[in-house]
Amino acid sequence: MQQALLSVENLTTVFDAPRGALTAVDGVDLAIGRGEVVAVVGESGCGKTVLSLSVLGLVPPPGRVVSGKAVFDGRDILALPERERRAIRGSRASMIFQEPMTSLNPVLTIGDQVAEPVRIHRKASRREAMDAAAAMASRVGLPDVSKRLSAYPHELSGGQRQRVMIAMALILSPELLIADEPTTALDVTVQRQILDLMLGLTRDSGTAIALITHNLGVVAQTADAVAVMYSGRVVEYAGVRAFFDGPAHPYSQGLLASLPRLSDRGRLTPIAGTVPSLSALPTGCHFHPRCPRAFAPCAHEAPPFFTLDNGRRARCWLYG
Ligand code: SF4
Repeated sequence: MQQALLSVENLTTVFDAPRGALTAVDGVDLAIGRGEVVAVVGESGCGKTVLSLSVLGLVPPPGRVVSGKAVFDGRDILALPERERRAIRGSRASMIFQEPMTSLNPVLTIGDQVAEPVRIHRKASRREAMDAAAAMASRVGLPDVSKRLSAYPHELSGGQRQRVMIAMALILSPELLIADEPTTALDVTVQRQILDLMLGLTRDSGTAIALITHNLGVVAQTADAVAVMYSGRVVEYAGVRAFFDGPAHPYSQGLLASLPRLSDRGRLTPIAGTVPSLSALPTGCHFHPRCPRAFAPCAHEAPPFFTLDNGRRARCWLYG
């Protein structure tokens, strides 16, 4: 098999709290090949955003990665000095966040912000960087480019700001893009346009994507493979087709059963119970208090990954 572009190995991230460390990401393994789109799905609070920040060495204190690796093109990002990490983050691996207003600088023009990666990483002159920014702004479909480049973030609509984030993230044609709920803050019609835009541009440049989302509809339309997270752990990994044809883990089955379908005439089957708090994680399989198929070993011992057909893997004692 071709070497993965990104290989996350046994990654664990905790947040220090007065009563002890809370484990937000717990021994995650994940691989993404060049040009591949891997969706990381799960409910809010399952650890998917912390995982993506951990991979790029961006977890804010009091969070810290306590073990594991994030091997990018043969080098462990987490073991590199911050200067080298920053060089990778700016040019070869980039990230799009959910809410662009929190990641755009309110006092810099859009043009300066889109041009910045080119000036810093390509050592381009201001004029060259601005030309590149203008070209990228028109590729992401910003209307009236010269006017938008001299505007400030608050002068743009939500959809335009997300296009700016995509322009900034892709202007250097990175090998890896981590997109954390890139369309959640937008209305539904704009969501589709932004996703299509992001996928089109990354397909052109062969960029791999880790797509962090809670939206299984988006996953079905965009991903090659799916990693399902629950309470800090990846509980299932599967090709997208195999996943939607027959998810293996009871939590994945619950997620799919809770999706609205026209044939159900509005009847949904939500997963019983609520996501546990990090300060009170259940013993054994974290899902056992909500699992309709829980049996004797589930509350006592955390299941390892079991390999199923089609390369699928599930952390569930049903397959042990
Ligand atoms: S290990 Fe047990 S509790 Fe956990 S998902 Fe499987 S059957 Fe359910």
